[in-house]
Amino acid sequence: MKRFVEMSFNASLANVTFARATVASFFIDDELSLSLINEIKTIVSEAVTNCVVHGYNITNNMYSNDIIKMSLDLKDNLLTIKIEDKGIGIENIEKAKEPLFSTKLTEERAGLGFTIMEIFSDNLEIISQPKFGTTIIARKYIS
Ligand code: ATP
Ligand code: MG
Repeated sequence: MKRFVEMSFNASLANVTFARATVASFFIDDELSLSLINEIKTIVSEAVTNCVVHGYNITNNMYSNDIIKMSLDLKDNLLTIKIEDKGIGIENIEKAKEPLFSTKLTEERAGLGFTIMEIFSDNLEIISQPKFGTTIIARKYIS
């Protein structure tokens, strides 16, 4: 198996749903188990939500021209998901990864997004530079 897609979309909570549906349709002919698909969808929605609410600080139905880039790359049994924003970036990545750490606890964020992404990925890379943005690379073996 070898397949690649890349897309850009504006940062909005509606596009979190779009990104989830997109990653599911990427595997439409592959007969993956529902639980595997759900894990992959969850990685994508946590990462895209973070770009929207943290990277670009967007709430509710706010319109924004800010762009999120997502690519899905499947080579043999290895899926590589890359999700990128050009937003505010992360000051302290180690801190951000801690379970229950959130800079928006007051806005009902649990601080569990990265923890969930790590559990469902075989490998999670977080690349970020304050003021320049954040890239998440999640690798996952599928069968
Ligand atoms: P939850 O995901 O449970 O709703 P959360 O988003 O705060 O809460 P994480 O997803 O684990 O928790 O992220 C932890 C912290 O890392 C965030 O509170 C935020 O400060 C920072 N962060 C994560 N993604 C980004 C991003 N794309 N841009 C800037 N900061 C980010
Ligand atoms: Mg989050």
